[in-house]
Amino acid sequence: MGNTFGALGTSEGDLYLSNGGTDVFFDVLTLAGCALAVSAWESNLVLLFADGHRIGRGTDGFDLNELPWTATWPAEKAFLLRAVDLAMTCHGWDLLAYQPPFAHDHLRRYRAMVDGWPGPVPVRASAPRPDWTVPPPPEQLERCPEHGIYQGMLGCRLCDPTLQPLPE
Ligand SMILES: [Zn+2]
Repeated sequence: MGNTFGALGTSEGDLYLSNGGTDVFFDVLTLAGCALAVSAWESNLVLLFADGHRIGRGTDGFDLNELPWTATWPAEKAFLLRAVDLAMTCHGWDLLAYQPPFAHDHLRRYRAMVDGWPGPVPVRASAPRPDWTVPPPPEQLERCPEHGIYQGMLGCRLCDPTLQPLPE
């Protein structure tokens, strides 16, 4: 089982990651995103990473079109790109308890996908979306004293003993 990160409407192929690769992907995006997020929308996006792939393992991942973009989606997309760029500098990787040998390649491919994504498709009918312009509960933005990242709904993902990415 694995997880698919897609962007309907782009020419890039989907990024398909193993469960271990997905854990790493969310770890490095959480480390970078927590260093950058300012707005409510940005914090909510980073919480998606912080809590990502911890419930329903093996069926996680998302298409960019599924995110609750707002009218200012270009700025939101730019934030996502900045988070990926910062992750590609190995930001916070000294806090990881493992070596992520494939993360650079995954981030590079994901960046190309996000960069080429033309924007949200407004006609897409789906389940009600969360309103990410509302700030998340403050306790979810409390930071782990050891790792400095959001606690999220499920606690610091780098402190979670059930998340131990395996070699890919
Ligand atoms: Zn922690």
